[in-house]
Amino acid sequence: MTASHGFLADVTNMFNDAAKIMSLEEGLAEKISVCNTTLTTRFGVRLRGKMHTFEGWRSVHSNHPSPAKGGIRYAPYANLEEVEALAALMSYKCALMDLPFGGSKGALKIDPSEWAPHELERITRRFARELARHDFLSPSQNVPAPDVGTNEKTMIWIADEYRQMKSSDINANACVTGKPIAMGGIEGRIEATGRGVQYAIQVFFQTPEDIAKTGLPDRLEGRTVVIQGLGNVGYHAAKFLSEEDGCKIIAVVERDGSVRNPDGIDIEALHAHMVETGGVSGFAGGEYDSGSALSDACDILIPAALESAIHDGNAHEIKAKMIVEAANGPITYAANTLLRERGVVIVPDLYANAGGVTVSYFEWVKNLTHIPFGLMERRRDEQGNRMLARQIESMTGHQFPEGAETFLDGAREIDLVRSGLDDKMRSAYGEMSRLWNSSDDIPDLRTAAYIIAVRRLADIYKALGIGG
Ligand code: NAD
Repeated sequence: MTASHGFLADVTNMFNDAAKIMSLEEGLAEKISVCNTTLTTRFGVRLRGKMHTFEGWRSVHSNHPSPAKGGIRYAPYANLEEVEALAALMSYKCALMDLPFGGSKGALKIDPSEWAPHELERITRRFARELARHDFLSPSQNVPAPDVGTNEKTMIWIADEYRQMKSSDINANACVTGKPIAMGGIEGRIEATGRGVQYAIQVFFQTPEDIAKTGLPDRLEGRTVVIQGLGNVGYHAAKFLSEEDGCKIIAVVERDGSVRNPDGIDIEALHAHMVETGGVSGFAGGEYDSGSALSDACDILIPAALESAIHDGNAHEIKAKMIVEAANGPITYAANTLLRERGVVIVPDLYANAGGVTVSYFEWVKNLTHIPFGLMERRRDEQGNRMLARQIESMTGHQFPEGAETFLDGAREIDLVRSGLDDKMRSAYGEMSRLWNSSDDIPDLRTAAYIIAVRRLADIYKALGIGG
């Protein structure tokens, strides 16, 4: 497939690099790479005394397996091409993570900050109706989640609207993920993408042959990190890496400029400042300037804002040894080539930010089974653990020290979610790393990730009798 430039073309080019190495039959490569269907909808909502027309999209890149899964973005710059690129990434991400979902993405061309919550609710409910009417919203066909500009509240409005339309569908709540716990959500979903970024970096630093390619010391503790975007994903990734892994977040880049602190920024304090003021300017815990710290010297750069942040115009300035793509598509195809030639190791988006969709999968399963994770076995496990502890104490004549109770506890939902996420992140990384290290034809982790994903999709298409 040919591609010019732009986000969609970048994703297609990355796909093509993998397809070439796999010698994928051409017709099949094209079938996998194109978006199956894209809905464009324009609908009116009467607000502030007049009719406003809104434009939105929902694209299904693949619906094998079903349902198709992917976030909904509210942004004034949203457009069809971006939605199709993000939908394609979702297909590859779900295939790489071995989740039973096709890929989808949606967007509404709107600046959410310009509308009051009750107005956003009406707009969202109307959008949800349009999506459901065209079979782009349903627990079995298409399941959205939050993305840039949307959140738990947006998801409740969508789920509630869908429930009203399909009141006899007992699984209606599973039509979206990322809901609040009280409304059928799952513990750990809000933090999931940032948590997944943390797990991705942890497993990278447990893989000596891959660390060696960066020239970094083999310990995560003490690594310096620059983060672009302290939103949902960036905030959680920065928080966990600094509080739990001993990383130093030496700079945060936001819309209004950058904050630097060589001793490490207090992420909770900066986040509180951003919630209060809307930006990083004026933060007392670091040096502020209106420029970008993206090219500051650091060990790990984490772009967690938007696509194409690193492009052929600024890639040569990047000094990080390793880039972890927490955002979708933050490095253009051209910049990816330049950085690879300079030996910068990139942990690709379809893996690095897959924590969100992985925990969404757990939420969807929870909604379909109508039972919280751990409910049936938690107390039983605790009894077993206590019995074992008593036996060990009586056999050894020693007592477990005070504070050992946590090991006796049965797993709560949050423990199971984190365990499942950690397992998925570890196994996907292991596959990518082994493939990357197995052949000189595979130049980077991104190509390895695409090959694994495309192979899984090709197998599905072949089993269905499409191609091959
Ligand atoms: P968000 O809106 O919560 O956060 C984005 C942050 O980036 C905001 O703080 C914003 O101010 C900042 N930002 C925007 N433009 C910027 C710029 N030019 N320079 C610096 N900072 C800028 O969004 P999010 O949910 O954290 O998503 C961020 C990225 O992660 C997106 O690419 C999204 O598609 C991807 N992603 C999100 C999830 C999820 O679960 N939320 C899952 C997978 C991938």
